[in-house]
Amino acid sequence: MAQGNINFDHETRGWVDLIPPRSPRLKLTSNLEAKWLVIGAGFTGLSCARRLAKINPNDQIILIDAREIGQNASGRNSGYAVAHSHFFGVYKESQLSQYQRVDRINQVGLNSLRSLVAENNIACDFKDTGIYHAAADNNSSKECDDFIDYLEKREINHTPLSQEQLQKHLGTKWYQKGVKVENGALVQPAKLVFGLADNLPSNVTLYENTPVLKMTVDKTNKLVVPNATITAEKVIMACNYESLAHGQPKQRVVGVTLSGSITRVLGKDELEKLGNQSSWGVLSLHRGGATVRLTADGRISIRNTAEYNNHRLLTDRQLLKRQAIHRKAFDNRFPQLSHVSFEHLYSGVEGVSANKTNIFKKLSNSLYFAGCFNGSGITKGTAFGMGIAEYVCDHESSLVSDCLATAKAGWLPPRPVLDVGAWFITRQRFIGVGKDR
Ligand SMILES: Cc1cc2nc3c(=O)[nH]c(=O)nc-3n(C[C@H](O)[C@H](O)[C@H](O)COP(=O)(O)OP(=O)(O)OC[C@H]3O[C@@H](n4cnc5c(N)ncnc54)[C@H](O)[C@@H]3O)c2cc1C
Repeated sequence: MAQGNINFDHETRGWVDLIPPRSPRLKLTSNLEAKWLVIGAGFTGLSCARRLAKINPNDQIILIDAREIGQNASGRNSGYAVAHSHFFGVYKESQLSQYQRVDRINQVGLNSLRSLVAENNIACDFKDTGIYHAAADNNSSKECDDFIDYLEKREINHTPLSQEQLQKHLGTKWYQKGVKVENGALVQPAKLVFGLADNLPSNVTLYENTPVLKMTVDKTNKLVVPNATITAEKVIMACNYESLAHGQPKQRVVGVTLSGSITRVLGKDELEKLGNQSSWGVLSLHRGGATVRLTADGRISIRNTAEYNNHRLLTDRQLLKRQAIHRKAFDNRFPQLSHVSFEHLYSGVEGVSANKTNIFKKLSNSLYFAGCFNGSGITKGTAFGMGIAEYVCDHESSLVSDCLATAKAGWLPPRPVLDVGAWFITRQRFIGVGKDR
């Protein structure tokens, strides 16, 4: 049995704030017996519930979330739906099967999202034309060479870009070099999760604002939510770093808090100074570097801080301090737009494991966990959600085999050592970041 001392922070900053509000589904207020229960309605839980519903068309699938849709990492991320993960360092032939396995998982997630967006007409600015990776400093320029070599050896469709070419595409001279990986998409993450949640199959019932406060795991699982209990035969935890609150899986995931700012909508004359693309997204070739996007609605979004904040969002005061870091990065890249104000400021928490692996696990005969995507969970979370549903239903598939081959997440020490270690490791990602921040 595990019991959490849980406090779910709620706020609607960032991408959710850019779009019309959505009416949340009702809270659960009466006791319930369920065959299938999914906890957490981010990309992983939404995808898991959908797949369970498809495999078991005559069963009801219960999906519950402590918050409203979009108030989690899935609604707060930078919106890069990657097909090809960037493995730092030189290409290693011995790792080829690992590279291929991870990309197969990414591709399952990307294909699923692409189909769902098309089938349900989800207006989420889904732009399926690739992702830029760029280097501003010397360390990351070397990483750029290694990444291009990797892409060539793997025969992944890509376009290397010089400083001048990047300037033409993006309107900034800041990057020394880069590469565009042609497979991969950009999305408005909050619009996407709203759309996924509002188009669930009819045999999925979603309850929002319904936190699991306590869980007893046995032949049947008993869960306590405010004002009701749930008895469930099979439970799938898709609750990312907050699984810690239940002690499941024990001390393998920590929450790392990121922050970003989004400008006002740029005018026509300002957009003309930003290169020849209507929207784009740049990932940094340094682990601690900024992710920068020109969004479909003509804003620039920049995210470049990461810290250990006890698995919590940042307070207003903390956010305002971080915004100075966003501002500096913005002005460095776009001096021609230094008069443009930021309109939105937000933080989000991502699940990270000690050895940067993901978790796909049967915890008992009736309890499963999928999550922890180390900052890359749009496509992977979607695929892991499908995979864990298939696994629970004893379906054999190449996706399940690929997910099961995930390396075991490294052990993390208990608190307070965990807090110190997580703080320290998160700081390390900025070593040598230089102009990439
Ligand atoms: C700022 C930021 C930028 C990012 N950028 C990208 C990016 O560009 N591309 C990319 O691929 N990934 C990115 N990520 C990572 C990505 O957002 C996550 O990996 C992904 O959203 C995780 O999805 P999830 O469904 O596993 O978890 P979440 O989205 O965190 O959902 C878990 C849900 O579980 C619920 N929950 C937890 N505990 C309970 C409980 N006890 N009872 C009920 N409900 C509970 C929570 O409320 C939450 O809604 C980013 C993350 C952040 C924070």
